[in-house]
Amino acid sequence: MTFDSLGLAPELSRALNELGYATPTPIQSEAIPLVLEGRDLMAGAQTGTGKTAAFSLPVLQRLLTGSGRPAVAGKKPRALVLTPTRELAAQVNESLRAYGRHLRVRTGVIFGGVGMQPQIDTLRRGVDILVATPGRLIDHMERRTVDLSGIEILVLDEADRMLDMGFLPAMKRILGVLPRQNRQTLLFSATFADEIKALAQQFMRNPAQVQI
Ligand code: AMP
Repeated sequence: MTFDSLGLAPELSRALNELGYATPTPIQSEAIPLVLEGRDLMAGAQTGTGKTAAFSLPVLQRLLTGSGRPAVAGKKPRALVLTPTRELAAQVNESLRAYGRHLRVRTGVIFGGVGMQPQIDTLRRGVDILVATPGRLIDHMERRTVDLSGIEILVLDEADRMLDMGFLPAMKRILGVLPRQNRQTLLFSATFADEIKALAQQFMRNPAQVQI
């Protein structure tokens, strides 16, 4: 199995080559084609399985046109990745940058515990993919410094940890303002408690399921 055979764009394959990724991990082989098809996805995968690339690569690709540019270089983010902690948010942002190094996709990250202004500046300049922790994203929603009306793809990364940390109300509030029509939703979680299944039931469309 190779990354090319999964249908990834040459710009992404090139970045993976440079990073020394030779073959996809099992979660990547299963998830990438489903996400490229536009399916909603529930994936059971722990940290260390390569789950970040499993969603980052196809999300980057779905924002592209043939030119390697985002289809619309607008101000509004088109993909949103929610993570439980700022460390994970920073890490996901770094991964997106590394995989997208040959693309003109703009990424940005917002999390709590640091000043609002640099994040407001980033949002004002415009990003295509926004990585965020739920609490700080709600702060930006309340101040109207973020516009989520253009979100086409939502990723819930480590959904079980977000629930454990008490983010369910925040997640529901965020989900409540996202476009519903044609939105693709990807949910990654190590475990699938009833609360996660209920969330999927309420906010996802006929999700494909993969378990590693
Ligand atoms: P994750 O499970 O997303 O936290 O990734 C675990 C680690 O595996 C990260 O350091 C990635 O850079 C690395 N990694 C992910 N996919 C691959 C791959 N296909 N080949 C080699 N390393 C990978």
